[in-house]
Amino acid sequence: MQTEIDPRPSDFLLLIVSSPSGAGKTTLCSRLRSELPDLRFSVSHTTRRPRPNEVNGREYHFTDAATFERMIREGAFAEWARVHGNLYGTSVAEIEAARTNARGVLFDIDYQGARQIKARMPEAVGVFILPPSLAELERRLRGRGTEDEPTTLRRLQAAKGEIEHYGFFDYVVVNDDIERAYGDLRAVVLAERCKRGRHALLCERMLAEGKVVT
Ligand code: ADP
Ligand code: 5GP
Repeated sequence: MQTEIDPRPSDFLLLIVSSPSGAGKTTLCSRLRSELPDLRFSVSHTTRRPRPNEVNGREYHFTDAATFERMIREGAFAEWARVHGNLYGTSVAEIEAARTNARGVLFDIDYQGARQIKARMPEAVGVFILPPSLAELERRLRGRGTEDEPTTLRRLQAAKGEIEHYGFFDYVVVNDDIERAYGDLRAVVLAERCKRGRHALLCERMLAEGKVVT
């Protein structure tokens, strides 16, 4: 009997990581980025103001609303959404650059963006980072100290709405202890890289070779 070959022609990994604000997704993603530099971080565009430690072009491309809206009209985004009152989007160019220069791309985007990326590229893998509790989520968001009170409240109020969409993701990583959670996220990436479909071309190429002389 012939094994069915997964039609995906490439071993390129599209990895989406989402979570409520404060759950630890940036912390986990930055560890993943330093350990696996061939997984290129997708730098989104946003109309949000930069935080003190953020650098334009590294965390985000910080953009005004007029530029963002022009990019929407020009079809420059693979996905975009309004999140916590600001616009965020992944440009097509960002994905193309990763396809040319890396083995995969890491999207730190919300569930609305995840849905759009999955619709365009169904082979994308979604990981939802869950805090151990809502109380701990609040402690972390407040402890980070990056948002003013209205923004903190807006983000906490949005948390349940985001957790509601957990069923849309392929994996859930509970970020209780950071070391354990990072181990889980890393394991997901390594397992995904071993998926049969990602190696179909290599298998087929070997099978197509002439008789091996021993
Ligand atoms: P997100 O990107 O999801 O908004 P961050 O990565 O910025 O979240 O994390 C929010 C805060 O929680 C940061 O101050 C971070 O250092 C802290 N944090 C992340 N993971 C853990 C953890 N497992 N235990 C305790 N604190 C954590
Ligand atoms: P923050 O302002 O804390 O950096 O991000 C707020 C939320 O916006 C997070 O849930 C983050 O994942 C999401 N986000 C960041 N970039 C994008 C993007 O390009 N598209 C979408 N849909 N969401 C994004």
